[in-house]
Amino acid sequence: MKKEFDILHQLPKNLNLLSYNEIQKAFPKPTLIHLEGKRKEPLFVSTCLHGNEDVGFETLKKLQIYLKSHLLPRSLSLFIGNVEAASLGLRRKDQQKDYNRIWCNDPSPEGLMATEITEIMKNKNVFASIDLHNNTGKNPLYACINKLDRPFLHLASLFSNNIVFFDNPNTCQSMAFASLCPSVTLECGQTGNAYGPEKAFEFIVDVLHLENLEPSEKSIHDLNIFQTLGRISVEGTQSISFGDNLGEIDFPHELELWNFKHVKANTLLAKTKSDKDLLFVRDECHIDITSKYLRVEKRDGTQYFFLFFCVPAMLTSNLDIIHKDCLGYIMKTLSLN
Ligand SMILES: [Zn+2]
Repeated sequence: MKKEFDILHQLPKNLNLLSYNEIQKAFPKPTLIHLEGKRKEPLFVSTCLHGNEDVGFETLKKLQIYLKSHLLPRSLSLFIGNVEAASLGLRRKDQQKDYNRIWCNDPSPEGLMATEITEIMKNKNVFASIDLHNNTGKNPLYACINKLDRPFLHLASLFSNNIVFFDNPNTCQSMAFASLCPSVTLECGQTGNAYGPEKAFEFIVDVLHLENLEPSEKSIHDLNIFQTLGRISVEGTQSISFGDNLGEIDFPHELELWNFKHVKANTLLAKTKSDKDLLFVRDECHIDITSKYLRVEKRDGTQYFFLFFCVPAMLTSNLDIIHKDCLGYIMKTLSLN
């Protein structure tokens, strides 16, 4: 079988001369790059798993400039994922698998590549894993982890005080690597912003300088740790509006400002003109758990209120994302004792 990805031992020259949609000039195929540093166990950084997210490529450019004048204190392995979709500005091409859903023994060509990369990094005794993403909607920078162990919390806390814990889907990159080393997904704001790559770059350099990931007592204090409870989706209509009541379902104009903020019980999330159910909360198995989190009132249409004090995340007013993915998530605060 032909190799689905390239392996390099240095960065291609002058990445900073390329715009994101020219990424295939530097990386014609998915590419794994091993850069040698003083400590041998490498930090693994995966980028561009979603082609429409530029934070990974922009961060690579910053790393390349940094490496002109600095030695690596630790080896660094970089994976550049879905370059084909990236050159088209798509999350993935229609016939492709989502590159962040192929990391658990997936039999597709993309899945075999992910399994091989995981194996390579396991054999190199990987130190920690960082997966870089953008998201839609106004969200603060935050880190996601899949284990509540102290090294995971410590790693995440070096990026943000906002930490989201989830343990599904198990096919994502951070989950696969969580069984090998402390692993984190960084959500670096919307595509095209300048502060996300800057923060991701600083974080990577910080982690490269760490001898270990044992936290000091203080460092995992004062963290906001959230757990995802359900995914909010609009189903059965394409007609969505924000604050002007023009759509079949209408959300508050300021919806995105609720992300990562506590929302009071009985806050109105949405209203519709008909009795038809258009808004759902579902768990990871796609089971309808709407009534657990939303009070649904049928009077002059349908109104949806939050049942409890809760924290939404990744709420978006981007219609394409709402149709193809979801409106956002409901979370709760976790306390660690
Ligand atoms: Zn992503």
